[in-house]
Amino acid sequence: MPHIKTLTVLGTGVLGSQIAFQAAFHGFAVTAYDIDDAALDKARARFAHLAGIYRAQVTGASEGQAEAALDKLSLSADLGAAVADADLVIEAVPELLELKRDMYRKLADLAPARTIFATNSSTLLPSDLKDSTGRPDRFLAIHYANNIWAQNIAEVMGTAETDPAVFDAVVEFARNSGLEPIEIKKEKAGYVLNSLLVPLLNAAAGLLLQGVASPETIDKTWRIATGAPSGPFQIFDVVGLGTAYNISASSPDAGSRAFAQYLKENYIDQGKLGVATGEGFYTY
Ligand code: NAD
Repeated sequence: MPHIKTLTVLGTGVLGSQIAFQAAFHGFAVTAYDIDDAALDKARARFAHLAGIYRAQVTGASEGQAEAALDKLSLSADLGAAVADADLVIEAVPELLELKRDMYRKLADLAPARTIFATNSSTLLPSDLKDSTGRPDRFLAIHYANNIWAQNIAEVMGTAETDPAVFDAVVEFARNSGLEPIEIKKEKAGYVLNSLLVPLLNAAAGLLLQGVASPETIDKTWRIATGAPSGPFQIFDVVGLGTAYNISASSPDAGSRAFAQYLKENYIDQGKLGVATGEGFYTY
């Protein structure tokens, strides 16, 4: 089984910055790639912000571990240099099929033959991308949840062509970087987490739109009856109502599109996007 020691993360946005920081926090040498110097400046600010979060919120961390993580991170806008010594490349660039395919075509030429490629895509299957990688046996998905330091799962999902030893190496990497690996045995849109979560959120939206119960009542029911810490509308606020709108508005389902319209009129047009803006279904 290949042993992963060096990581390169492509894209340093919301998720890419967290993926890079989480691995550096657990001692991996990490290179973070983004398209230009302006994006790298934003990445520096994100890493500094994450260091504060990890210092304050990660229990069991040693004194100075967050600062040590910053020293383990290097930044580059040169793709060839960024992947030259990578055992694993995790791609977290925008969720656009052609942009990702183009990225893999470039990577195929630039990365060493041993390098494993992994996508963090939430909605594309690794099969949608594998033919652009030039190495389908060394390609799979590793899907993180937002706020990695707390919601620390990594869903690992290959295609039928992924080498089982590569799958195992990425599972081991996930564990070594402080995550609980979720081993997915066959390709499934939505992985495990969103296959469970999306139907719950859709059902909650339906109950609200049909006037069956209020968000508070729906959430309370879920919390008390299942012991879960949050109800679906609390989860909507954490995910962000802008994201919920984008997903619902592009759905083929008329009920989902009606929910998108409801979110727009009642929340988004008033700048209420959930926890991030201090107000959504609840006030924070
Ligand atoms: P984002 O928009 O915050 O960040 C994308 C980053 O990619 C930016 O830093 C941008 O500069 C960079 N980028 C843009 N074009 C590029 C290119 N051609 N080459 C390289 N980098 C480029 O996006 P995000 O929310 O971090 O999402 C990234 C990926 O992670 C997506 O595939 C998404 O599905 C997945 N994901 C997101 C979340 C989430 O909660 N945001 C959760 C799990 C998975």
